[in-house]
Order: sequence, then structure tokens, then C-alpha cells
Amino acid sequence: MKVEIIKCLKDNYSYLIIDEKNNYACVVDPSEAQPIIDFIKSKKIDLKFILNTHHHHDHVGGNTELKKKYGSKIIGFKNDKERIPDIDILVENNEIWRSGNFEFKIIHIPGHTTGHICFYFIKENIVFTGDTLFSLGCGRIFEGTKEDMYTSLKKLKSLPKNTKVYCGHEYTLKNSLFCSKYESDNEELKKKILEINLKLEKNLPTIPSTIGDELACNVFLRAKNLEDFSKLRDLKDNF
Ligand code: ZN
Ligand code: FE
Repeated sequence: MKVEIIKCLKDNYSYLIIDEKNNYACVVDPSEAQPIIDFIKSKKIDLKFILNTHHHHDHVGGNTELKKKYGSKIIGFKNDKERIPDIDILVENNEIWRSGNFEFKIIHIPGHTTGHICFYFIKENIVFTGDTLFSLGCGRIFEGTKEDMYTSLKKLKSLPKNTKVYCGHEYTLKNSLFCSKYESDNEELKKKILEINLKLEKNLPTIPSTIGDELACNVFLRAKNLEDFSKLRDLKDNF
């Protein structure tokens, strides 16, 4: 299984997960259709499934066009069936979903929206976290409560440390400034920021991160309790 990172819109990432044996693929959060079409055009890839972490337009904007063009099936959280365009397959919390060589667990991680989920590919050790966990940050709380978000991040924290984290946006640089403001002595964070800047200088994505890196560097995962987390979230909203 191979993951390709596809830049969309201003700072979104969509991800193609390719089963190279069969040339089947899933796409996570296609913000728009064209960059996905451009990528798979020359490669004879069959886009079997579209996976949506949540209903926001910058994550589902390409659903309808891609489904029409490739006959892909759209997978999303059952409670968001009215909000995810052209949804076909409804999944629920803790479900393990399989088709061919694709196998992932659904984890419900509300806070950014009430219906936000992540796709955890257990065998590959990869999680697609949408707008809940970013590298060095977390999503804004639009629909849920701070407690929802705190609990959701706790679920992500419990994944193995070597799990690769693919998130919905390239926000890492701005997030790093916030983290270093609150943990200026964190040596791991300093190291991570050097790596981030090297990648960005070469115009490369800072993604994927890992759960281990985030545990060591992301102030939102390092908050000791809900109260600390809430304070940080308020400060970040005005950062
Ligand atoms: Zn969003
Ligand atoms: Fe987003």
C-alpha cells in the first residue's frame, strides 16, 4: 500500500492510498476533483472509494465529480449521511471496514464537527486525522465541546507511537510557532521545527508526522488536563 499526497485548494491535502498489486485506490478527503484526476490519469488507477473524515466543503468538494467519473463509492460517518454529498456507505465508531486489500478502523473523533471520524489503517500503521489532529496542532472547535475534542485527541494519543499521521491541512509552520511559544525549552520540538523548515524550503509537505512526534512536540496533546487544553485552544484561536 502506497500513500500519495495531493495538494488541493490553498493548503489542503488529499491522500491517495494505492493498492499497487491491483492498481486500486481510495482517496481521503478530495477537496476538489481536478488534482486527483490529474494524478491518476496517466497511471491507470481505479479509484474505488472516497473516504470523508467530515462534511466540510474543503474535504468533500470533489465527491460528486469523482464518483461520476470513476463510479467510486463514498464512505462516511452514518450520522453525517445528510451532510456528506453522494454518500454510499455508512460507517460507525469502532467498525472495521474491509474491501479487498483495504482494511481500516473507523474511530469517531468529534469536536471540530460532531460527525468527524478518522480512518486508521491498522496493518499499515497509518491514520488519516482530517481536521482533528494536525501536525503540532488540533482543529478549531466548531460544533462539539472542548471536552469532545480533548477526548478525541486522547483516542488518537493511544495509537502506537510509530503510527504515521496524515492530516487535512498544511498548517504545521504556523502551529510550530504556537507550540514553541508555550514550550520554548522542548528539545524535541526544536528538532522537529528544524526538520519542518528543511522540508518547506524544498517545497515538500511536512506530512506525515507520527503519533510519537506529536506526543513529544504538540502542546495540545501534552496538555495535562481538560482545563489546560481549553486554555491553549482559546489562546490558539486568537494567535
Ligand atoms: Zn473542517
Ligand atoms: Fe478543513
